Amino acid sequence: MLPGAARAVAQLNAVGLRTVLVSNQRWLSGPTGDPACFAAIHARLERLLAVEGAWLDVSYYCPHAIGSCECRKPGSGMLRRAAREYGFNLAQTVIVGDTQADLEAGRSVGAATILLRADNVNSTGGASASVLADAVADDLPAAVRIILQTLDQAGLRHAKVGPAVMPVISAGLVLQQ
Ligand SMILES: [Zn+2]
Repeated sequence: MLPGAARAVAQLNAVGLRTVLVSNQRWLSGPTGDPACFAAIHARLERLLAVEGAWLDVSYYCPHAIGSCECRKPGSGMLRRAAREYGFNLAQTVIVGDTQADLEAGRSVGAATILLRADNVNSTGGASASVLADAVADDLPAAVRIILQTLDQAGLRHAKVGPAVMPVISAGLVLQQ
């Protein structure tokens, strides 16, 4: 969990945006895969969020090997499932992620995309990923500022819109294995 990330999620919660975590967890199908360990990591994430009064509305993860399913990002299976189960419009969602796979998944369902400029050398974000992004942010707090500014410009921050038209944030960065 990066500094300020929990507080940024809390800001989204506060304005009524639903937050969805969508992550690839391929290691779970490998020899070291341990569902109990994953559950512990997730519980820790939720505790760190709760310290700042933040929460995730729902989380999805793909435990499958590469090429064996439709949910592993850049596949859009998890996003489509979230939309189906929670009744929102993917064209009104914002995908925030630090990899090309995050942005490709968002693009493929017509969502807006924000690339997080990750500093780590393993990031697959970069020149090719930024081409897919509607905006680029240094970190999750910066991405949330962009989202809130966009809502303000559209006059939507305080609008009493129904849950079906609430944007959803897929913060692929928050939990990474
Ligand atoms: Zn999968």
